[in-house]
Amino acid sequence: MAVIGAGFTGLSAARTLCHLGANAAVLEAETIGWGASSRNGGMVLTGLKLGVNKLISRYGRERTQRMYAASLASIDCVEQLVREENIDCDFLRCGHLEVACKQKHFDDYARQAEVIAREFNHRLRIVPRHELQTEIGSSIYYGSMVDEMSAGLNPARYVAGLARAAVKAGALIFENARVEKIEREARQGAQGWRVRTSRGIVWARDVFIGTSGYTGSATPALRKKIIPIGSYIITTEVLPEALARELSPRNRMIYDSKNYLYYYRLTPDHRMLFGGRAAFFPETENSIRKSGEILRRGMIDVYPQLRKTKVEYVWGGTLDFAFDIMPHAGQLDGIYYAVGYAGHGVAMATWQGEKMGEMIAGEKRENPFVGIPFPGAPLGLYNGQPWFLPFAGAWYKFLDWVS
Ligand SMILES: Cc1cc2nc3c(=O)[nH]c(=O)nc-3n(C[C@H](O)[C@H](O)[C@H](O)COP(=O)(O)OP(=O)(O)OC[C@H]3O[C@@H](n4cnc5c(N)ncnc54)[C@H](O)[C@@H]3O)c2cc1C
Repeated sequence: MAVIGAGFTGLSAARTLCHLGANAAVLEAETIGWGASSRNGGMVLTGLKLGVNKLISRYGRERTQRMYAASLASIDCVEQLVREENIDCDFLRCGHLEVACKQKHFDDYARQAEVIAREFNHRLRIVPRHELQTEIGSSIYYGSMVDEMSAGLNPARYVAGLARAAVKAGALIFENARVEKIEREARQGAQGWRVRTSRGIVWARDVFIGTSGYTGSATPALRKKIIPIGSYIITTEVLPEALARELSPRNRMIYDSKNYLYYYRLTPDHRMLFGGRAAFFPETENSIRKSGEILRRGMIDVYPQLRKTKVEYVWGGTLDFAFDIMPHAGQLDGIYYAVGYAGHGVAMATWQGEKMGEMIAGEKRENPFVGIPFPGAPLGLYNGQPWFLPFAGAWYKFLDWVS
């Protein structure tokens, strides 16, 4: 089995495949965790990117119930893996807080919480504006919604631990092995794939792709279905304990209700980590520098208390969005894949890797994301080069303004 990409998806799949008796070689173009898996905000979140009403109208109640259950199970999946493999990554069930940027966003929380309680038997807590100080030291929001089930972790340590766990299970990981071409080739009567990498050729009976926002020309059919979008993070200097507690009294994973959203949290050493889609383009030196400035201004809008605080780090990474903003998994032209996490990938990528590993090993397990339509670009106007990102960025800003 050849697994392409050594992030949460690929490593989780390789670990599961080896536990189920398969041989797995993980081929990674750069180094372990080099992609989004080591660079993200470490928010282990329940739910999907799309709202529940949209999901129900698109997929029906029964499948949406299974999707939501999968999103809850994905948090348990990460927790169990961290425990079983003894991964020292600051995993903590601290809950997440979604904050409303407009009154109508807050009004919608009550409706969403009611649907989630009724349809998925999962309770969210609504916090009105006058009680918000118990959750966040900012006065710009109209209220919030809390989900106690979500968690936080240190992603770089988690992905390193996941790689150790995959190796312990028997996986081989090849770094600096960029997959360049994948072609069908039978060997000794067995159907399979000839995988050409920058370090040599591998033959594998099955191939699984977990390349997320870095999906490239080696898998052209998948590339056309994925939009790579940049996301950026700054972290401040270490804050005095009292200030850190004032900003986030319950140490939540926080994100706001905009399309062009900000997400933020305290790190265990009390820095403010503040992220967003400051520039839509995937990371370059220039986009990282500009994003650092934009995010700092955004952080001060939320927390004027940080006006004089130094920003010590800035970095960027690439997310993967499908055209329908959904996770997708299954087989395309005979090759297995799991992609489309839309910024919700820490838990879901780990879970999808595990489920796809089980599926490839022949176990019939529940996966509501397999078999849903996987649309490409409207009118097929996309070859994998996202020329429309500036327009998409402007469109989302416009939507935030009017909605
Ligand atoms: C800045 C940022 C913040 C984020 N914050 C959060 C968050 O707080 N919570 C959350 O849930 N999600 C978050 N995400 C999203 C989350 O990080 C991703 O969804 C998740 O890491 C995807 O994991 P993956 O293994 O599928 O892909 P990745 O970790 O991106 O790994 C893909 C790997 O494939 C390799 N690759 C690509 N092409 C080839 C090839 N041809 N040959 C060999 N290897 C190849 C790449 O080098 C890369 O290492 C964030 C993402 C970013 C960028």
